[in-house]
Amino acid sequence: MGKLEYIKKEYARTRKTEGKWYLSSYKYKFNTTHIVPFFEMLKQKKLMGLKCRGCNTVYFPPKLVCGKCLIQPDKWVPLRETGVVATFTATYDKDPKTGELVPAPITAVRPDGADTIFVVELNPKIKFSDVYVGMPVKVKWRETTQGNLGDIEYYDRIEDPTENMPLYKMEE
Ligand SMILES: [Zn+2]
Repeated sequence: MGKLEYIKKEYARTRKTEGKWYLSSYKYKFNTTHIVPFFEMLKQKKLMGLKCRGCNTVYFPPKLVCGKCLIQPDKWVPLRETGVVATFTATYDKDPKTGELVPAPITAVRPDGADTIFVVELNPKIKFSDVYVGMPVKVKWRETTQGNLGDIEYYDRIEDPTENMPLYKMEE
């Protein structure tokens, strides 16, 4: 019996139930008490990572439980506003006027001092073709902050000190 036939087989003992998935209004509840300082510091335009005393991993955003040690990370460490592009990709949207495919970039940044990456907005003026892994970036804060990750308007490109470094030449 082929694989497809197996999947298509009518099962006598299954049951159908009507249902819908309201994914657009999906809510996930969790206790944020111990990461309140994270949001308070965001409001003051400061980035804080949460360090696990078991493995020294600095999480940004903070994690409730360290996946490696299964304990609650509990040491706050200040992070710099700079970071590097850790990875990026794009989805492509058709421009309704020209029909041209326009890249909608999805970028993950590793903040300096953190061991984790998170998805951010890049300055929309940065051309997608100019983005590269390792590109140094810096937080651009919103003028009015509210104490959430949205206080980071985007990450902007900063000068790359390695860009104009002379290439190493082997002595002959
Ligand atoms: Zn750990």
